[in-house]
Amino acid sequence: MGFDADCTKSPEKLQVLRDKKFPWREKKRKTYRLAHLYDLAGYERYADRAAACASWLQYAVSENPDDVLGEPLRTLHSAAFCDLRLCPMCNARKAKRAAILLSRVLDEAQRRYPGLQYIFLTLTARNVPGPELGDAISELTKGWYYLVHQKQFPRSFVGWFRAIEVTRNAEDGTYHPHIHAILAPAFGYFTYKNGLYVHHDEWVARWRQALRVDYDPSVDVRATRAKETKRKSRAQAAAEEAAKYATKDSEFIRGDIPDAVAAQIVRDYTQGLRRKRLTAFGGLLKFVAKLLDAENLEEGDLVHLPDDIRDDVATLIEVYRWHFGVADYVLADVLGPSAAD
Ligand SMILES: [Zn+2]
Repeated sequence: MGFDADCTKSPEKLQVLRDKKFPWREKKRKTYRLAHLYDLAGYERYADRAAACASWLQYAVSENPDDVLGEPLRTLHSAAFCDLRLCPMCNARKAKRAAILLSRVLDEAQRRYPGLQYIFLTLTARNVPGPELGDAISELTKGWYYLVHQKQFPRSFVGWFRAIEVTRNAEDGTYHPHIHAILAPAFGYFTYKNGLYVHHDEWVARWRQALRVDYDPSVDVRATRAKETKRKSRAQAAAEEAAKYATKDSEFIRGDIPDAVAAQIVRDYTQGLRRKRLTAFGGLLKFVAKLLDAENLEEGDLVHLPDDIRDDVATLIEVYRWHFGVADYVLADVLGPSAAD
């Protein structure tokens, strides 16, 4: 395939990957940092997988009749992702995919039920030390289940989406798992005399009961009635916010965090998130998500994102490989159209 030959070329002759749709270079560099941390944390196999994540990318190239300069269309055609929970590369692809699907669900629900609105709810619980993170996430999931099964809930809300996010308090090293939810209120919810509206105090009381704790947990609720912008619909903005990935890799990938601390964070997140489902739909949003085949936001094709152009009319395949010297993807090979199948 000629990869080795290409790697011996001097850097100025190399053609570097350009793709405005995704920050490949930045994410790939972070996979090596993660691989190093997995190694330190004692997960050697994960380290190998993270280091190999998306080390090559195949782009389908096709003519673009709409481009006056004759610049061809390039679409990602093939790649091998590691699919590890903490991978900055995979999580950025997943977050992008999830935001597209979730905003489609929210838009479609409003198209089917004109006048449907959304409100944002954030539910938290007390911070926990690393070894208790997994149990704390299970408690949150259970708490959510009890909350939406309280008998008043379905009277006020006809649909919901929820995602679990975990952040870390850098000062004391504890973890803060919380739920971001998008709720679709029943019609008439905002008219007080209907008795459907849930005030902040009542949210706290309901969440405290659902979570089965002896303190008042913190609850934040806001109407998403903010004006939509030119670029984004209200549903899109809400979807991007809710579909951010469960953990922020900046918490452990950043270079200024000592290796030993970063490796411990990787260990805590790896154990805490193991076998946890972090997102779910309910009510009419679940119904619409099913219709759009968008129910599972956590797994799916990371190569072809839902808003990509088709890649089955390619005339050529360009193969890019990560080049250590250049610290970027460089063109390693160009294959004929038969390779596009
Ligand atoms: Zn990956």
